[in-house]
Amino acid sequence: MYEKEKEEILHAALALKEYRLIALSGGNVSIRTDKGHVLVTPSGMIYDSMVPSDIVVLDIDGNIIEGTRKVSVDTEAILYILKKLPEVNSVIHTHQVYASAVGLVMDVLPAAVTTLPNACLGPINVAPFSSAASLEMGIMAVDYLNNKRAVILKNHGVITVGSTLKEALYSAVYLEDAAKTYIMARILGNPVLLTEEQVKEAVGKFKPGTYGQS
Ligand SMILES: [Zn+2]
Repeated sequence: MYEKEKEEILHAALALKEYRLIALSGGNVSIRTDKGHVLVTPSGMIYDSMVPSDIVVLDIDGNIIEGTRKVSVDTEAILYILKKLPEVNSVIHTHQVYASAVGLVMDVLPAAVTTLPNACLGPINVAPFSSAASLEMGIMAVDYLNNKRAVILKNHGVITVGSTLKEALYSAVYLEDAAKTYIMARILGNPVLLTEEQVKEAVGKFKPGTYGQS
């Protein structure tokens, strides 16, 4: 079941690796299907050697519907996020370096480049520490998302969300670009930030139906 969706999850995981947002078996990718099932990448498997049948199908309470692999250790947190946020159908967790670095010294990554509000809908909060593989990680993510598509987990990594897998993926990639640019600018001096008005405009320009081919 869900062969197409499993292929899409694998492609997204490999894209995250290509953009250096995950390494080896770190992080995870998950989606909620239109039937309400949840597809999650397995625990501790290297993405390069993963095949579609390694992706596990669950119900929203975590019961295994299909698959023989152990699910990601963050599944409890992922299911919590999907339960709490009905508009979210995809959750990505990475250990991306630049956004995580911002999280070590700041409470918010401000919007300094337009791609951040384009993809993530605004400045990105840093959630207080929660340990990996815990329900608390999901609770913190929901509490600090603040209607954006990403949240930085202090001393850990990033969670991005979207109504589609593509939204969550773009959010992770553009968040990293924005964090990198911001850090570079901070080395040179005081970055000029976008105004609230400019952030609103940047969010509006990338609403569904406005940008892209579909
Ligand atoms: Zn992690």
